[in-house]
Amino acid sequence: MSDELDDLYRETILDHTKRPRNFRALTDANRTADGYNRLCGDKLKLFVKLEGDVIKDIAFQGSGCSISTASASMMTEALKGKRLADVQHLFDEFHQVVTGPPDEMPDIPEDLGKLAAFAGVRKFPVRVKCATLSWHTLQAALKDDHKPVSTE
Ligand code: ZN
Repeated sequence: MSDELDDLYRETILDHTKRPRNFRALTDANRTADGYNRLCGDKLKLFVKLEGDVIKDIAFQGSGCSISTASASMMTEALKGKRLADVQHLFDEFHQVVTGPPDEMPDIPEDLGKLAAFAGVRKFPVRVKCATLSWHTLQAALKDDHKPVSTE
């Protein structure tokens, strides 16, 4: 990855850390789940308003490091209005990009959009769980699974 792109990604993550999008409770959510990353101390609660197979609205609250906050913020932004099949597709792509071999940079699928900013996380294995916490919590919410998600 070029340094320029690296800087752009860093700025994107910083922006979402400072001003997280969709950071609120959804009073009309019909799916919720709690996630906790013990390794770092990241906590989040995810709210989803699912209508049929479309995510009508999605929001989160919680406290965590910059990576986990930015990841949740960008995930909610990316998934609002998406169908579940597309959500699963994005989850798979995101997971692949973030958890690949640390010494290799991935080919970034185009539809990943801004979420590609997290590709660099693979170089820091301890940060991978910060980046994927919101996504694992989302999976639990969609399954309507009320057991708190732990990243272990
Ligand atoms: Zn973290």
